[in-house]
Amino acid sequence: MAELTPMMQQYVKTKEEYHDCILFYRLGDFYEMFFEDALTASRELEITLTGKDCGLEERAPMCGIPYHAVEGYLTKLVKKGYKVAICEQVEDPKMAKGLVKREVVRIVTPGTNFNTQTLDESKNNYLMCIVYLDEKYGVSVSDITTGEFLVTELDTDRKLIDEIHKYMPSEIICNDSFYVSGMDLEDLQSRLGITIYSQDAWYFDDEKCIRVLKEHFQVGSLDGLGLKDYDCGIIAAGAMLQYLYETQKTPLQHMTTLTPYATGKFMVIDSSTRRNLELVETMREKQKKGSLLWVLDKTKTAMGARMLRSYIEQPLINEKEIEKRLSAIEELNRNAITREEIREYLNPVYDLERLISKISYKTAGPRDLNAFAGSLYMLPHIKFLLKNLQAPLLQEIYEEIDELSDLYELVKTSIQEEPPITIREGGIIRDGYHEEVDKLRHAKTEGKNWLADLEAREKEKSGIKNLKIKFNKVFGYYLEVTNSYKDMVPDYFVRKQTMANAERYITPELKELEDMILGAEDKLTVLEYNLFCQVRDRIAEEVVRIQTTARAVAKTDVFASLALVAERNNYVRPKINQKGIIDIKDGRHPVVERMIANDMFIPNDTYLDHRDKRISIITGPNMAGKSTYMRQAALIVLMAQIGSFVPAKSANIGIVDRIFTRVGASDDLASGQSTFMVEMTEVANILRNATSDSLLILDEIGRGTSTFDGLSIAWAVVEYISNPKLLGAKTLFATHYHELTELEGKLNNVNNYCIAVKEKGDDIVFLRKIVKGGADKSYGIQVAKLAGVPDLVIDRAKELVEELSDADITAKARDIAAGSNGFLTESLHSMDVEQMSLFDTVRDDDIILELRDIDISTLTPIDALNTIYRLQNKI
Ligand code: ADP
Repeated sequence: MAELTPMMQQYVKTKEEYHDCILFYRLGDFYEMFFEDALTASRELEITLTGKDCGLEERAPMCGIPYHAVEGYLTKLVKKGYKVAICEQVEDPKMAKGLVKREVVRIVTPGTNFNTQTLDESKNNYLMCIVYLDEKYGVSVSDITTGEFLVTELDTDRKLIDEIHKYMPSEIICNDSFYVSGMDLEDLQSRLGITIYSQDAWYFDDEKCIRVLKEHFQVGSLDGLGLKDYDCGIIAAGAMLQYLYETQKTPLQHMTTLTPYATGKFMVIDSSTRRNLELVETMREKQKKGSLLWVLDKTKTAMGARMLRSYIEQPLINEKEIEKRLSAIEELNRNAITREEIREYLNPVYDLERLISKISYKTAGPRDLNAFAGSLYMLPHIKFLLKNLQAPLLQEIYEEIDELSDLYELVKTSIQEEPPITIREGGIIRDGYHEEVDKLRHAKTEGKNWLADLEAREKEKSGIKNLKIKFNKVFGYYLEVTNSYKDMVPDYFVRKQTMANAERYITPELKELEDMILGAEDKLTVLEYNLFCQVRDRIAEEVVRIQTTARAVAKTDVFASLALVAERNNYVRPKINQKGIIDIKDGRHPVVERMIANDMFIPNDTYLDHRDKRISIITGPNMAGKSTYMRQAALIVLMAQIGSFVPAKSANIGIVDRIFTRVGASDDLASGQSTFMVEMTEVANILRNATSDSLLILDEIGRGTSTFDGLSIAWAVVEYISNPKLLGAKTLFATHYHELTELEGKLNNVNNYCIAVKEKGDDIVFLRKIVKGGADKSYGIQVAKLAGVPDLVIDRAKELVEELSDADITAKARDIAAGSNGFLTESLHSMDVEQMSLFDTVRDDDIILELRDIDISTLTPIDALNTIYRLQNKI
């Protein structure tokens, strides 16, 4: 250390304090990195590695980025999961005696990135804190760009994973006893694709957490915040707050409320259902286009876009709340002109939530304040339009919108119309706002005129005809009188210098002017900066009013958007019932209908209830539209519970507590599980966690294994679900196993449907219409032909079908359905194995059976050899 140069010593000391961060060390116009950090950053950011003499024998590796380009580089590092500590010069280098003082002013992590230019404005950037304590999870979520701060508690790791998928935070912090189902943090991190940092124990000290929360929210007891029963949640929230203080190094004034929420207030959607139903992004491309959000999002503001996304991510289960939203949409559509006017006024509204956060952070510039005021300008108009609407929700919004005219006036009168981006170079404050600013500004521009004025006045008063005001660097401004007029000099002229043929004087007034003219520029920039900060701080004091208004505006935007989409896409208001009946007439898939040519979508009915129509078994060839039909039903239910109108002629929706989907074979390569294993894990989850109020969408259960096993599993699953004592959930069940249609009539709540196709000679035409009854054929060969499989293969397949008629399995299944509900696999395996033999697989099974039956304890070596010989011959 002693050998290092003083600056490097300062660097190393700072780095020690922030050893887990990459240190951006400000040197003039650059942020420099040294040693290890330089190696990492040059690699990750692809910037040139150089060296710097640091006092040691070898030069220190170094790389740097210009300060004005810092945001891009910073975001790149943070996205890769690094923490970056920003170390600034905290005193003016010109004033510094010796080494310039430097301090870390902020630590940037994925969940605390405040760079609004690089963040997606239509999404929140969440940080999640998870505390695992006493077999419970305390979970707290915050978005520092909007000030949102939530807390909840969960009792199982599955719920936790669902909650993580709901928020998709960009960073998770946790205590070190946290784990999920035997996965360590690294596993979890790679499965979720989220940076996870385990924090030191002191963050989670309960007394400390309680103290921090009390101090932040200035309350005597946490009960007042509604946190009475959240003992584990309190620790998550307290730890979160400390982490934010630690990294942000600001008082976080904009985090004004901590909202406890119970996950039980919302529909439960697990992570694979979220993915399968493509709620906010598509399954494969992970893009918004093609998702439900894409169809529903016609919001005008970033705040509205974020709120709509969160509505879609957590549908309601309370009938009253749903109806309230529906009524708001209905009224906005009855008053379509008003709705469109509101949308016009929303157009120029900026992201008030993020603006107020920037304002509280003191990072907002003058242009941000203008964007803020420009947005406020729209508020009275929006409020006025809402006034005449009666729906209770719209009335609530009306009440919540504060016109904030005081703040609008403040910005309008104080900030120039087109100020510069920077705040240290003046040009910010409007004329007429502050006397001193006006004077100084005047001094700058009008200085010459004033001097000419003064010159003329003094000339006139004294009668000295050639009196002149001149300037030099030593004396500044002075009055010059040639010797011939010396006697006429008034006594208030103070002589400063005598020249050969003239005398130089000053007057108090001239010096005052001089002060004003010469100091004006510097004084002006300092004064403007201070005034700007005052205005900004003044706005920051009103953070609560602004946030409340911002949320009300976001809601207005969401409902106007939902209303417009409903009108444009011909949606209807669903009726909501508590009787568990789902009755959809002419329902359509909201996304598919937008993707295919106009009016080409064939609508279909769906009916499920708690009595004799609990389960629909849906058969039909591949490509007939089974998945579309089932997802459509799930999406319509989900949309209704968001409070949106739905794509149907009419819909009566019984509120469901959860939607589960098991759709298609999604490989989970990352976890190294086989497709079948993943499928069965999901089935297990569904059967364990669904209730009789849930809606299940099951597509091709049991596909990933042999026909026997697959059919047996599918069969047993249907039996289980249909039994009200075991589960009794409403279910749409698509299957290839036509044998399952035998269950209709045998189980009293199972019904068969199929998606109709028409045969046209050798080909088939998809009618896309769901009809009562089971499909009698699978048309696999016709579909293969449609897909372009060569004729030779198609013809051979036809021959094989003739030979391998599966009539026997069907007959057997019929027997079972007619008899008791015995376990199917046994029964099927007892069938004549030779007869079932397809592609020789059974012969392998044969060998395995024989192997299994060998009693090794009594087997002599020679018997063993003989057995192996015999088995080998069978292959
Ligand atoms: P399956 O699950 O039976 O294999 P899909 O549901 O994947 O079939 O549907 C196949 C394609 O058929 C979809 O991509 C969609 O474009 C079209 N389709 C499905 N249902 C309809 C419908 N009701 N109206 C029009 N086209 C539809």
